[in-house]
Amino acid sequence: MIAGNRGTERTVELPDYLPARMLNEFVYCPRLFFYEWVEGVFAHNQETIEGAIRHRKLDAREGSLPSADELAASESFFHTRSIQLSSETHRLIAKLDVLEAADGLVTPVDYKRGSPRLGDATDKSAPLAWDPDRVQLAVQALVLRDNGYRCEEAIVYYSATKQRVRVPIDDALVRETLDALEAARALASSGPIPATLVDSPKCPKCSLVGICLPDETRSCGRWDERAPAHTQRYLFDPGPPPDAALATGESADDRVRRLVPARDDLRPLYLNTQGLHVGKSGNVLKIKEKDKLVQEVRINDVCQVNLFGGIQISTQAVQTLCENEVPIAYFSQGGWFYGITHGLGVKNVYLRRDQFAWADIPSFCLRLARALVAGKIRNQRTLLQRNHVEPPAAALAQLKCMQQDSERAGSSSMSPPFQRPPVEVHAAGLGTRRSPRRTARHRRQRGADLF
Ligand code: SF4
Repeated sequence: MIAGNRGTERTVELPDYLPARMLNEFVYCPRLFFYEWVEGVFAHNQETIEGAIRHRKLDAREGSLPSADELAASESFFHTRSIQLSSETHRLIAKLDVLEAADGLVTPVDYKRGSPRLGDATDKSAPLAWDPDRVQLAVQALVLRDNGYRCEEAIVYYSATKQRVRVPIDDALVRETLDALEAARALASSGPIPATLVDSPKCPKCSLVGICLPDETRSCGRWDERAPAHTQRYLFDPGPPPDAALATGESADDRVRRLVPARDDLRPLYLNTQGLHVGKSGNVLKIKEKDKLVQEVRINDVCQVNLFGGIQISTQAVQTLCENEVPIAYFSQGGWFYGITHGLGVKNVYLRRDQFAWADIPSFCLRLARALVAGKIRNQRTLLQRNHVEPPAAALAQLKCMQQDSERAGSSSMSPPFQRPPVEVHAAGLGTRRSPRRTARHRRQRGADLF
């Protein structure tokens, strides 16, 4: 039974055997372990992809392992790869990259992508294994011992520096590993998900940083209804000086680091020509008008597909977009939002649940509504300034007033003046002075606009 963040409970069936890699994750960050082992959430980053490629090569040469008695009797050097063993005593399972044996002793060797930790109190330049790696190797040693092999030490090979770092499997490490195992099992069976690490250098390297959002999650958790709304920032506003946060009493814990890009390179696809048909071939969307291909768009380049009015999309295209977690939004021809289709998107369930809970708090909704409306009006004003040869001062001033009024709105149900005029003011400005060059370009993009 797992207890959720807000006291809800649910049953989770977890495999009986814990993989050595999961204990590595637990020591690295208990929250990461919870995401991967309990929630079944996984995401790749550069490091995990490189690791997977390296292990695929090792696994391609799967070896065999003589019995413990045969190895104990042999004096010659033995070497094998990609061995999987389990321990009945500790309910652990481990995959060994390489196993070396000599003089009756076996030594697991684990390949890691990065560099070793440097130095301890006695020798500051000595390469040492990182704690998660030490514990992972201790699990391998425990599994080997439980199968009758003699294992006194293990080796981590750090490929970035091409160094072999020896890890003695002594009583202290075994105790540390069994304690971690007990704590990991307790966490998995009772929950809730642990808090994020605070200002940790581990987070930028974590493959789940885009799902966990450590700083944002902490920042949202501290949100105070009585606090004033954040000051709106503008396009060319450099923001407060770096030490301003300290001057205002904001601690380093309060700051949200930019751990994931503010905006990825993907762009939304807007289709507004009536009668278009969207199909797909491979990972490419084929946009046709009366059986004539008008545009091809790679799904990997798109973050969202927006269909305005009578535009058809094939089931195959919907399935592929869902698989790639690209949402499809449906609008009327005039831009009225109808609904959205997206895949399972089982990412940060806790964040999603809290978002629904916050949606029940009127003051939070008001603050969000103010920010959304003000942001929309500000965007229109920016577009007008960028695209107009000579932006009409009256329209700009009017939009500015509306933006400021919406930031001070006393109710989240917008009064009628805020619902349409910004669009009308914007359109009026664009309609009279659009440059011929942009008009031609817009005409070319009429069928499929990839902004
Ligand atoms: S981003 Fe940081 S807090 Fe979140 S799971 Fe990864 S290491 Fe843990």
